[in-house]
Amino acid sequence: MKIETIAVHGGNIVSDPLKPVIQPITLSTTFEHQEGTMMYTRLQNPNRKSLEAVLASLEGGADAAAFSSGNAAGNAVFQALPAGSHIIAPDDMYHGMKMLLKTVYSGKIEVDFIDLTKPNQLTDAIKPNTRLLWIETPSNPLLKISDIKSLSEIGKKHQLIIACDSTFATPVYQQALSLGADIVMHSSTKYISGHSDILGGILVTKEQDSFWESIKNVQRLAGAVPSPMDCYLLTRSIKTLPYRMRAHTHNAGKIADFLNSRVEVEKVFYPGLSDHEGFETAKKQMSGFGAMLSFLIKGNANDADRLIGKLKYFTDATSLGGVESLIERRSKVQAGDAGIPDQLIRMSVGIENCDDLIEDLTQAFDSIY
Ligand SMILES: *Cc1c(COP(=O)(O)O)cnc(C)c1O
Repeated sequence: MKIETIAVHGGNIVSDPLKPVIQPITLSTTFEHQEGTMMYTRLQNPNRKSLEAVLASLEGGADAAAFSSGNAAGNAVFQALPAGSHIIAPDDMYHGMKMLLKTVYSGKIEVDFIDLTKPNQLTDAIKPNTRLLWIETPSNPLLKISDIKSLSEIGKKHQLIIACDSTFATPVYQQALSLGADIVMHSSTKYISGHSDILGGILVTKEQDSFWESIKNVQRLAGAVPSPMDCYLLTRSIKTLPYRMRAHTHNAGKIADFLNSRVEVEKVFYPGLSDHEGFETAKKQMSGFGAMLSFLIKGNANDADRLIGKLKYFTDATSLGGVESLIERRSKVQAGDAGIPDQLIRMSVGIENCDDLIEDLTQAFDSIY
């Protein structure tokens, strides 16, 4: 099955005798004790099973585990590690995950944040207690591209577990498991939901090994699981994911070119631009460049805020991956994070008509400079 077909059919596991075409929503928290049925919704639920099934197929994995947020999904990986483990993570890691490691895991797990766009830096960072290599590509918010295959080859020589946050890439554009990762993570709050109305996270594993069993234990026993309603809505959203991504990406490519053409813009970070540092790697490991981009405007934070304030169709809000375009000055959200310039603007390009978006950007630039 091709990806569009999996997206439509992979989550329908209908066992109802009335044969509805769509998997019904099963809100019941408990099930009558019987052979072959489920027991309790924290452990498993028909709608969660559907969601996990479709995501496992989309990523080409053996199994998946759904969580109530992207951070909860990442947290399950960290919690499944032995105490005292060392993790290698990217310097441009999603801010919320970086804060999770720096605060909640402080004193429990060691972490080094390094530039994973340079695989040779990985070898130097590996210690005797290193257990996990955490990759995020493309990264949030600088759109850094890490070479999953090269990093995995180095990691495997040192028996590391390799996990990849593919939130920006989506399962439509990047299959990290086939490039060497053991686990893929998504914040399903983003493109997988696609409508800015569900919080969720997902892990997909290549193999059902003992580490995966530990992760499933965290899911079932720590219990940060999504509700049946959220699982239903995510499974529904996934049906249009490949087509939404085409529209998002089409618009993002045009907007990246537009921004590049403006004299007021100093630098555009979009992996689809041939002068982007990660362009060649992105072309090799992704089948599309996605719809997240960031840029630096000439001037300061105040100029960035003025530009954002003039826009009509781009809402000044955090998060990403919804059908509507969003924009924000990123250092408002990750204040004090080294490496994020004050005037960096991050954009999540929606699926509005691109001409309207470019017209809106044009009037905003023209009115502030
Ligand atoms: C949003 C995001 C997360 C965290 O997901 P939540 O659903 O907000 O908990 C993790 N990684 C990336 C790249 C994200 O964009």
